Amino acid sequence: MSKNKKALKIAIVGGGAGGVFAAIQCAEKAQQNNVKVHIVIYEASSKLLKKVRISGGGRCNVTHHQFDPKLLVQNYPRGYKELLASFHKFQPQDMVKWFEQRGVRIKHEEDGRMFPVTDSSETIINCFLQQCKKLGVLIETQKPVKKINQNLQLTFADGSEEVFDKVLIATGSSKTAYDLAKQLGHSITELAPSLFTFKIKSDLLKDLAGISFSNTSLSLKTDEKNSFKQTGPLLITHWGLSGPALLKISAWAARAMKKSNYKAKLYVNWLNYKDLSHVKELLQNQKQTHPKAQIGNTPVEGLPKRFWQKLVLYSNIEPTTVWNEISKKSFNKLTQNLFMTEFNVEGISRFKEEFVECGGVNLKEINFKSMQSKLVPGLYFSGEILDIDGVTGGFNFQNAWTGSWIAAQDMVSV
Ligand SMILES: Cc1cc2nc3c(=O)[nH]c(=O)nc-3n(C[C@H](O)[C@H](O)[C@H](O)COP(=O)(O)OP(=O)(O)OC[C@H]3O[C@@H](n4cnc5c(N)ncnc54)[C@H](O)[C@@H]3O)c2cc1C
Repeated sequence: MSKNKKALKIAIVGGGAGGVFAAIQCAEKAQQNNVKVHIVIYEASSKLLKKVRISGGGRCNVTHHQFDPKLLVQNYPRGYKELLASFHKFQPQDMVKWFEQRGVRIKHEEDGRMFPVTDSSETIINCFLQQCKKLGVLIETQKPVKKINQNLQLTFADGSEEVFDKVLIATGSSKTAYDLAKQLGHSITELAPSLFTFKIKSDLLKDLAGISFSNTSLSLKTDEKNSFKQTGPLLITHWGLSGPALLKISAWAARAMKKSNYKAKLYVNWLNYKDLSHVKELLQNQKQTHPKAQIGNTPVEGLPKRFWQKLVLYSNIEPTTVWNEISKKSFNKLTQNLFMTEFNVEGISRFKEEFVECGGVNLKEINFKSMQSKLVPGLYFSGEILDIDGVTGGFNFQNAWTGSWIAAQDMVSV
């Protein structure tokens, strides 16, 4: 490394997942390429990696056990097209390897979510902070960036200013974060919450909070033109419905739901039956096998008894009625409700475990080969500030890791 050569000055705005990983990557790449760098992370709050700390219920769901880029992108309601090429460069497997090479072992759970084996987000934070220290990355907390101009001059809240050669904006999804991008001429796509649960008032769901279904199929209609489908686990809550399938549908329908003012029709197929005639056959079987048994005591296979009894009542059938005495009309109603119960969605509730914002910096304004702005040379973006978001399961962090890795390769290229 030449001692006289001026150091490449890199500012990372935002000390969250994307920012800290980018800073480390820039420093590592600079070491490999023998480039002299001066890297500073500017973080508005008093601590780095706040969301990492609380993520995954304190366990940090770092990424997802899906190593095929084509399948991986299917988990991003926004950004899937752009991410495909990016995941061919840096994907979950690379991130897992990166952690393991630095002493952090990662495991995966049955549903594909990946966590540190310690089940503690502290492990991830400690790893990142140790790397920053080892590589000489400077950290300035309580240093909000107020303005960035076209010459990559940063103005801080305390009035001080500094010019950099390269700037990465990884400020997440706050309003001030979007303002920084707007000042630089970038446009912000329509914002809307993503990953939320549904408020539904229904006699069927009353007093059944906590009951879950492992394989449902959902269909959501937000207006005449828009409908969304998802399959997977579903959970009854005190205020309506939640669970992985519902969160996924909320993400895909984020903008349509905002447009409909969070009013919609939701159709639930409780056991993901393939068609109505199949359900009819199933109930006929039940009737023939247990002609003298009370309907309420003979749930179809796979349905919790308490839910079944409510479903029977909801279909206007006394649970004490025996199968032999069920009227054709009631039989048909029960068949229909089991195959597809219709609910009115009346609003939403934020999912506390992981929520993200849909919308952000317009992807058309970003060169995805480098994550560089097409409007301002030397300016880069990564993470949630972009109009990219994933469903729950570690996909949102992976977007931040991948974008930051790609940006860093370009920022320190020689
Ligand atoms: C409760 C919760 C749990 C989650 N759990 C998971 C999970 O398990 N797995 C997963 O994949 N995703 C999870 N997510 C989503 C994930 O945390 C985000 O997608 C991810 O943190 C985005 O990273 P980022 O670097 O873009 O933004 P952030 O991590 O939000 O970091 C942005 C940083 O920029 C700073 N900043 C903002 N403006 C300025 C400014 N002007 N100057 C300086 N600094 C600024 C902020 O203070 C913040 O520290 C969760 C989210 C929440 C809210």
